[in-house]
Amino acid sequence: MDDKDDVQDVEIMPTDIVFDCPNCNHNLVVDYRAAGLQVPCSQCGTIIQVPIPDGMHLEDLDCDPGELLQQLLQTRRMLVKAELAAQQLGEKIVEMTQQVAEYRKTLHSVKARMETMQEAADLADTARKDIITLIDAAGSAK
Ligand SMILES: [Zn+2]
Repeated sequence: MDDKDDVQDVEIMPTDIVFDCPNCNHNLVVDYRAAGLQVPCSQCGTIIQVPIPDGMHLEDLDCDPGELLQQLLQTRRMLVKAELAAQQLGEKIVEMTQQVAEYRKTLHSVKARMETMQEAADLADTARKDIITLIDAAGSAK
C-alpha cells in the first residue's frame, strides 16, 4: 500500500497508534494515550475514534494520574482565559459601539451648527445687499 508514504515524514514512536481515517483514508499517527478517544482527523476534520490496538486495554495506559490532572487543570485554565478574553472583547465591542454612536451624535450637531452658520452668513449677505441698496437709494435721492 502506498498509504505509508503519507506518514514517512512523521516520526513514528513505537507507542504510536497508526490507522487510516474511515472517512478520507488519510494515514493518521496518534499517541497511544489517545486510544479510544474521539479526535478530529488532521486531514478532513471528521471526528473519529482512535482504535484501541489489539491486546491493549485502556487500563494499561500507564499514564500518570497526576499528569492527567495537570493537563486537565491546564486545559481549564486556558478555557477560563479564553472565556475572559471573549468577555473583554464583548465589552470592548459595546464600548466601541457607544463611542461610534457618540461620534455620530457629535457629527450631527456639528453639521447642524454649520448649517446654522451658513444661514446666518446668507442672512448677513442679504442684509449687506439691502444696506447697499438703501445707501444707493439715499445717494440718488439727493
Ligand atoms: Zn479524514
